[in-house]
Amino acid sequence: MSKDMDSKYEKGPRKAKDNGDAEGGDEKRGRGFSRRKVCRFCADKNAKVDYKDQATLKYFVTERGKIIPRRISGNCALHQRSVARAIKQSRGLALIPYLVLAG
Ligand SMILES: [Zn+2]
Repeated sequence: MSKDMDSKYEKGPRKAKDNGDAEGGDEKRGRGFSRRKVCRFCADKNAKVDYKDQATLKYFVTERGKIIPRRISGNCALHQRSVARAIKQSRGLALIPYLVLAG
């Protein structure tokens, strides 16, 4: 028995995309978001919502200046509200931008 089946045995390194499936565009639906985040401010009693504290507030603002929603930030309702207020105050003081223009 000689192994002359080389020609037949062809390893396909990758399948041609004939499926028409979008590549990785579909993250599993369903809300099973990996971990449940805990509100930072509840978890850490030393952490305080302070409109003067840019470093902390920046954490809850996107690059474009939008406030990150609670779903993503993981804050509890109480703290999300105070964060939002603090951010708005902070904007008034020009510590945080209202809007960041792209480009
Ligand atoms: Zn909280």
